[in-house]
Amino acid sequence: MTRRRTMLIPASLAAVAVLSLAALGQQQKDKPKLGYKDTPMLPGGKWHVHDGDRPQPPIVTPGQQPGQPPSDAVVLFDGKDLSKWQVNGQEPGWKLDDGAMVVPPSGAKGSGTITSKDEFGDCQIHVEFATPNPPKGSDQGRGNSGVLIMGRYEVQVLDSFDNLTYPDGQASAIYGQHPPQVNASKKAGEWQTYDIIFTAPRFKDGKLETPAYVTALHNGVLTQNHVALLGPMTFRALAKYSPHGPKGPLAFQDHGNPVRYRNIWVREIKDPE
Ligand code: MG
Repeated sequence: MTRRRTMLIPASLAAVAVLSLAALGQQQKDKPKLGYKDTPMLPGGKWHVHDGDRPQPPIVTPGQQPGQPPSDAVVLFDGKDLSKWQVNGQEPGWKLDDGAMVVPPSGAKGSGTITSKDEFGDCQIHVEFATPNPPKGSDQGRGNSGVLIMGRYEVQVLDSFDNLTYPDGQASAIYGQHPPQVNASKKAGEWQTYDIIFTAPRFKDGKLETPAYVTALHNGVLTQNHVALLGPMTFRALAKYSPHGPKGPLAFQDHGNPVRYRNIWVREIKDPE
């Protein structure tokens, strides 16, 4: 003869369960009725105009001050260490100085393009930089570096305050392709910001399907408005795409000038629905 096993739920737990169910029911009842269902369908045939059943956007806590990373950002550099970076797969020789990472002297061990270990496709990028003060050199030789998205698409970094160069090579240019709409540069030594929206190129069967797009703000001023890129950064040549994967690292160019970087973060851009 087998004994039926009964599960005993302590009275207190049972009470909690009943209470929780009641709370849930109340919540459902309290859920505000949002929007409209008697409105025209939006293209795509999924949602009405003002459809209350459409998913609510996720909550992101913005930084306390403008420029600080929001809660869903990948912080690549917060001034403390270079643990998220490499140079040619090795420990970077870029210097840590007063909360900044600095391009090392030419030929120093670990010099060269610094590359994030994390990789990104479509993304929002925040970078702060300062060109050397007092300024040294002129034209392309003054405060030259660069933000290399996916390790290859360059938003130029240069001391473009009172320093003429060819327009598609100045600060905030898509190097060799698109001059910035305006020159919003600050003086050497002053901290400047880039906020970049990047759409990665798409390739299909080894061919370009859609190009990369860049929107950029330099010190809060629009300098690139959804410009299509011809390809990766080139010097004295027409840029041309080579197919690559959907993600790549964020990198900064070592052009031999001790440019400083700080507060670097990236947000991946996902399809909202
Ligand atoms: Mg450069």
